[in-house]
Amino acid sequence: MNNVRKIDLKGMTSTQMVEWIASIGEKPFRAKQIRQWIFQHGISDFEQMTNLSKTLRDRLNSCAYVTDINEVSRQVSRDGTIKLLLKLWDGLTIESVWIPDGDRGTLCVSTQVGCKLGCKFCLTGDSGFTRNLDAGEIVDQLMQVRKSLKVTNIVFMGMGEPLDNYENVLQTLRIFTEQDTALLGARKITLSTAGVAPGIAQLANDFPKIKLAVSLNAADDQTRSKIMPINKKYPLAKLVAALKKWPLPAGRLITFEYVLLSGVNDSDEDARKLVRFAGKLPCKINLIPYNPCPHLSFKRPGKKRIARFSKILTDSGLMAFPRDSRGADILAACGQLRGVVENAV
Ligand code: SAH
Ligand code: SF4
Repeated sequence: MNNVRKIDLKGMTSTQMVEWIASIGEKPFRAKQIRQWIFQHGISDFEQMTNLSKTLRDRLNSCAYVTDINEVSRQVSRDGTIKLLLKLWDGLTIESVWIPDGDRGTLCVSTQVGCKLGCKFCLTGDSGFTRNLDAGEIVDQLMQVRKSLKVTNIVFMGMGEPLDNYENVLQTLRIFTEQDTALLGARKITLSTAGVAPGIAQLANDFPKIKLAVSLNAADDQTRSKIMPINKKYPLAKLVAALKKWPLPAGRLITFEYVLLSGVNDSDEDARKLVRFAGKLPCKINLIPYNPCPHLSFKRPGKKRIARFSKILTDSGLMAFPRDSRGADILAACGQLRGVVENAV
C-alpha cells in the first residue's frame, strides 16, 4: 500500500484527531469512536469499524490509514526474551524486543531504521541510516506486541537515536500516555540517548516525566570521541550541562549505560574517571559487557576485569550494576538490549 499522501490516524494525539475530523466536516464524537477502534480494539481496517457509516468509511479510506506493522518473525531466547522482526509499509524491517522479568514485561522499541550517530561498537550505527520512523510506526510496535505479550514498561533502546527523531518521539510519548489510549504511564517509560545535548534540554521542557538513560561508555572526551563520534559535537561538559537541566523528582536517578570494551574503556583508570564523572550528577551506572558483533573488532573484557571495574565503582559509593547478557543467544546480531534494559526501567 502506498500511504505517501494519506494521513496516519495512529500517529495522532486525541486533540489532533478531533481537529482533523472537524477539518473533513465530521462531528467530534467520530474522533472518539475511531480512536476506540484503534487503541482499545486494535483495529486498523476502516471496514471493521462497524459503527461508522459506509460513506464515512469510504472517506477515511481515501484520505487516511492506520499503521499496521506486520510481524515477520520472532526468536525466543533461552531466558524468555523475544526478538520480533517487524515489517514496515515500505518493506523495511525493524526490531522490537520484549523482555520478561517477573511480573514485568518490558518492550524495547526502535525509533529509526539505522542510526546516523555511528558509534563504533554498535551494529545499528555500523549499518548507517535509512529513515526515521514516524510516530504511528513507533506506537504500533507496542500495539502489535501487546496483542500477544504483556507490556508493562517501554524503553527507547532499540535501533536508532530517539533524540535524532525528536518530533516523532515526542509525539509518541504523548500518544503512549494519553488517557484515552490507556497504554502506559510516563514513569513506565525510559528513553535512552547517546547524548544529544540540545535534545535532552528540549525534552526536559517538553516531556520531563519519563525516565532518562544516557549511553556514556567513556568518562573522558578523548576515549568517548573515539567510540562515539557524537561526543565531538556535544562533549561531556555540554552533556553534563544539559543533564543538569533535567528535572529529576526527589530520589530519582539518571541511568548511565557503560558498555565495557576490552582495552578501550575498562581499565582501573577508566573506572576512576567514571567515579569522578558520576559525582557530578545523581545517577546509577549500568555496566554492560560488550556483546560481540560480526565485522566489529571490539572484545568483551574477561569476568575478572569486569568484577574489578565494578568494584572500583561500588567501593567509591556509586550505584553500579554489572549485567550479564541474557538473551544474547538471539540478540547477538543486534548486539544490544537485555543487559542495557535491565535496571534502567
Ligand atoms: N541510540 C540510543 C538508544 C539505543 S540504546 C543510545 O545509544 O542510547 C542501545 C544501547 O546498546 C546503548 O546503550 C549502546 O551503548 C548499547 N550497545 C550498542 N551496541 C552494543 C553491543 N554490541 N553490546 C552491548 N551494548 C551495546
Ligand atoms: Fe546509534 Fe545508539 Fe547505536 Fe550509537 S549506540 S549508533 S546512538 S543506536
